[in-house]
Amino acid sequence: MDLALASRTARQLMDRYGLEHWSFAFDDALRRAGLCDHARSRISLSAPLTRLYGQAEVRETILHEIAHALAGPRHGHDATWRATAVRIGSSGRRCVDPQAPAIDGPWAGTCPAGHTSTRFRRPARPMSCSRCSRRFSVTHLIAWTYHGRVVPMGARYDTELREITAVARRAAAPTLVVETLDLGLLDLEPEAVPTAAGAPGVA
Ligand SMILES: [Zn+2]
Ligand SMILES: [Zn+2]
Repeated sequence: MDLALASRTARQLMDRYGLEHWSFAFDDALRRAGLCDHARSRISLSAPLTRLYGQAEVRETILHEIAHALAGPRHGHDATWRATAVRIGSSGRRCVDPQAPAIDGPWAGTCPAGHTSTRFRRPARPMSCSRCSRRFSVTHLIAWTYHGRVVPMGARYDTELREITAVARRAAAPTLVVETLDLGLLDLEPEAVPTAAGAPGVA
């Protein structure tokens, strides 16, 4: 969707639902479509994702963020927020449509079964495929490329990978905390989800 048109749509909807004193802006986020900044009374949309989205997805994102503004920062995605969202015409879903276009990161991962995912940052730790196993599993390790090329993953990654494979050889598969990549979130940064110390993740 054209950014100027998206901006006008946001302004109209914000005014309609009582946010005349809130400002609107675009940001550069790649993994969330919108953001409601209560401290600054500002709603922003990701410029790169807005360009990819159709009118319906942009409208849904704007209404999602307006509902956050109206419900207040303490409500997150709870029932109060959802009721507000539905009242103003949003779906009340937490995520954008999984079919909505997304921006791929330069890091591409493939598991032994051929499932793929991408990331924007270099994976700091070995990960296994969440579609093959919900828990970290050494038999479903993901192999990474950067812009299509196999590159060094770094000393820490290599050390951890050696330790994991050594443990796997010695014993049954270790039980480790799962890190999931929730690519559909509208306004949470998946990269910020903490993992337990020492635990590889799942992508
Ligand atoms: Zn897999
Ligand atoms: Zn939200």
